[in-house]
Amino acid sequence: TAKFVEERFREFGLSTRTVDYEVLVSYPLKRSLSVVYPSNSSLSLGLDEETVDGDGDSSGVIPTFFAYSPSGEALAEVVYANYGQKSDFDELKSLGVEVRGSVVIARLGKSFRGDIVFNAQEEGAVAVVLYPDPRDYATNATTEGYYPFSRWLPPSGVQRGSVIQDPGDPLTPGWPSSKLSERLNASNLTRLGVPAIPALPISARDALPIIEALGGPVAPDSWQGGLAVDAYRAGKEPVKLDFRYEANLTTATIRNVFGIIEGSEKDRYVLLGNHRDAWTYGAGDPNSGTACLLEIARIFGQFLRRPARTIVFCSWDAEEYSLTGSTEWVEDNLAMLKARAVAYLNVDEAVTGSSFSASATPQLDNLLFDVTKMVKDPDSNGTIFDSWCGKSNDCVGRLGGGGSDYAPFLQHAGIPSTSMTYEEKNSDFPVYHSLYDNYNWMKNFGDPEFHRHATVVKVWGLLARRLVMDTILPFNYVSYANVLEVNILSLSKSRDVNFFPLHFAVDQLRELASKIPSFTAPRSKNDILMLGERCFLDGEGLPGKPWFKHLIYGPTQTNVYGTSTFPAIADVISKMAVGEDKEELKALKQDLQHEIWRASRAVQCAANVLKGDIFS
Ligand SMILES: [Zn+2]
Repeated sequence: TAKFVEERFREFGLSTRTVDYEVLVSYPLKRSLSVVYPSNSSLSLGLDEETVDGDGDSSGVIPTFFAYSPSGEALAEVVYANYGQKSDFDELKSLGVEVRGSVVIARLGKSFRGDIVFNAQEEGAVAVVLYPDPRDYATNATTEGYYPFSRWLPPSGVQRGSVIQDPGDPLTPGWPSSKLSERLNASNLTRLGVPAIPALPISARDALPIIEALGGPVAPDSWQGGLAVDAYRAGKEPVKLDFRYEANLTTATIRNVFGIIEGSEKDRYVLLGNHRDAWTYGAGDPNSGTACLLEIARIFGQFLRRPARTIVFCSWDAEEYSLTGSTEWVEDNLAMLKARAVAYLNVDEAVTGSSFSASATPQLDNLLFDVTKMVKDPDSNGTIFDSWCGKSNDCVGRLGGGGSDYAPFLQHAGIPSTSMTYEEKNSDFPVYHSLYDNYNWMKNFGDPEFHRHATVVKVWGLLARRLVMDTILPFNYVSYANVLEVNILSLSKSRDVNFFPLHFAVDQLRELASKIPSFTAPRSKNDILMLGERCFLDGEGLPGKPWFKHLIYGPTQTNVYGTSTFPAIADVISKMAVGEDKEELKALKQDLQHEIWRASRAVQCAANVLKGDIFS
């Protein structure tokens, strides 16, 4: 596909580049899982996804596995841990269920799968199996059926994915995986954010006999799922799981492909990015996005031959492993990107459902509103803005989590970013990372007319066009200040620490943002608009997550996919909520005050930049 994308870019009249990295990846070698009954009889689970007639030959599809899971074997009692969140393990503790030494089975869907594995590891589990429960991934299948009859995940569907914590190649944290780069010692992977215990994804079909055989008391109501059993139980006896997994962790060459249209201001970049690698067929994740990227490249190649700024179309490799292609490239070009990149516009899954949604750093909110008001919603009579936001302006999501390729641009390089998607409001993408994320699913259930794809092309393209062509960049830092003020008010509720420095800095930002001086050269004004976001980076990064440099948007402590505003502050507050020890609370309060100061300095830095001159 690298060649395919490169050829399209060239055919559309773009100049092209490819940039390769050599990174640690992982493949499955051997997998087996059996339920061992007290009678010592056992049932071997299939671990395969059933091919649907008409979907074509699936023999080339990678078997179900978790990337970067270590190899390992275990024969142990099994414990059901609901969604595998910290609170679920706390609940098990309060029920007196000992997780140590057991295999944990949990359902996917509430947090990043890797976080579930780490939670289980922390409780002393020896292996983990994760499955998509029908309640979450086949919600209406009893009436509607499942794929190929509806959008819902078939019983044998499995969600592949990575279980690593930090973006990029784990052997080169913070620097590019070029051919001759330093590599850390691969025998020390657990210190580099890779789990120490093995994990496998399984299907609801394979989870059924395990859940069915659980012992102990009936689990709480909120722990009950959609499998056909009397009850999900929270106890250990009497079944065991025989778990075996052998991984091949090896080096592979990955390839990012770029299509470039040079602007008159050659050294100012607007980047549009999407990943190209997929776990299976990837019709939704990521090919729906790749189709849109290529269509915009075609249109711009034809009608935007001489843009004001340089447009860079980025087709990333190995996103599914750990945002690897984009992360290595950003690390490779960090200083240049910080000095010259205007904005990064990401689309991963362009379409997996019927509701449009978009996320952005707040200086881009108004631009998103303007653009979505120009595009008709193909599923209603109004505009995209009408169906997305309705009467409120409170509809823009934030990009804190490490879920896609905007993470290195925003969280490591401080570049204003957006991301957009069509998703289902009340459920996950049912066939996510399974064999059924294929063309027939998309054609029949995701976007039968492909008009949602066309809509993403319009919104994404118009957004890029404004950022490329507007004489003065359409950035609004007043709305940034307003958004932050709301966040601070909710964080500062009833804490007797001093939030004043942060309030003061945000007020300064608002004031100076409303009177940015005019310059004879628009480039000078654009430079300060571009640099404002860079201020939110801090060399030390977030506590315990030093790669994440952005102090305003980051992942939550418990979920890499979750977004946290002022993550370091929010993190201390959540620790204070559970802390009881007086000395400990006192220390946490000091930490909190320090994090408030740190964030206020970042915001003050942006305010100073917007003054436009070091001596004014
Ligand atoms: Zn994706």
